[in-house]
Amino acid sequence: MIEDKNNARTPLGELGEFTLINHLTRDFSNKRNTTIKGVGDDAAIIDPNNEQVVLTTDMLIEGVHFDLSYMPLKHLGYKAVVVNLSDVCAMNAIPTQVTVSIAVSNRFSVEALEDFYAGIKTACDIYDVDLVGGDTTSSVTGLVISVTAIGTVKSENIVYRNGAKPNDLLVVSGDIGGAYMGLQVLEREKEVFKVNPNNQPDLSMYSYIIERQLKPEARKDIIELLEKLEVKPTSMIDISDGLSSEIIHLCKQSEVGVELYENKIPLDPQVISVCEEFDLDSTTIALSGGEDYELLMTISQQDYDKIKGNPNLTVIGFISEAAVGMHLITRAETKVELIARGWKSF
Ligand code: ADP
Ligand code: MG
Repeated sequence: MIEDKNNARTPLGELGEFTLINHLTRDFSNKRNTTIKGVGDDAAIIDPNNEQVVLTTDMLIEGVHFDLSYMPLKHLGYKAVVVNLSDVCAMNAIPTQVTVSIAVSNRFSVEALEDFYAGIKTACDIYDVDLVGGDTTSSVTGLVISVTAIGTVKSENIVYRNGAKPNDLLVVSGDIGGAYMGLQVLEREKEVFKVNPNNQPDLSMYSYIIERQLKPEARKDIIELLEKLEVKPTSMIDISDGLSSEIIHLCKQSEVGVELYENKIPLDPQVISVCEEFDLDSTTIALSGGEDYELLMTISQQDYDKIKGNPNLTVIGFISEAAVGMHLITRAETKVELIARGWKSF
């Protein structure tokens, strides 16, 4: 995983900028009927089909947001797209197009960028979105990636962060804490590898959490599920930073309080066992870990029957009046104030 898989190494300078862009985008074809013009002109043309357009951008910097020593470029391309699609989904919208801009140094080969674009293509295929443009430029050292994602949603279905009401249920999709623990395992293996480069670690027992870190998914399936269940959340946000800071965002913007139940937080068994191995508190990890890209939402009590028992959605708390404040109710039934960095047990 850590070694450089690319034997062939064509310097970027061998291809002109146009040839490079053509080469990297040659396998992409447009799937969406809203894409009128994709890559190839001065700008793309999109027809929103009488829906509202959702637009979001994220920038990723080598050494700040990703480390290529354990992040294969194909995974990085996939993740760079997915984290943007997740933001579109968090508006209760369906992603439709992306643009990808890169600043790249001559440290990278054409083959390395091919791997990166293979990951972008996989994400575009899985999520049914079109790559409709971007920009290619040079950087002095590291790799800089900027992805913009576009989506559409009927105006009456948009869900903002600020709609939570007292008595609403606090609900999360999937399980959390895995991506952070996957990163802990990868960082530990990187240190081991530095000492003994011949050591090929067996990471199979960590497969779920490593995948959560290297290949996160946007919960587009949850947006489709909510539509099918006829549930429109009152507020929603995707979990990029950590459960507690996202809860605080929802509550502050909605001007409400919250009671979060420690024993309701959904954790994968692998997260629990690896937390024990690292001597970390799994609740702290769930609250402050981040990068899980699950959806956190509030729904009206009236909709409880529609989501009850659904394995993809877990009720983890209740919204209260702002004056009540924001608290974690621990397993020992004590109340602890929720803080953005999570909750540290003694
Ligand atoms: P301009 O000089 O007008 O910015 P470019 O040569 O940068 O034009 O881009 C030409 C076309 O290729 C445009 O459609 C642009 O969106 C697309 N493009 C450029 N770089 C990338 C990239 N890295 N990935 C995808 N499309 C790209
Ligand atoms: Mg350009």
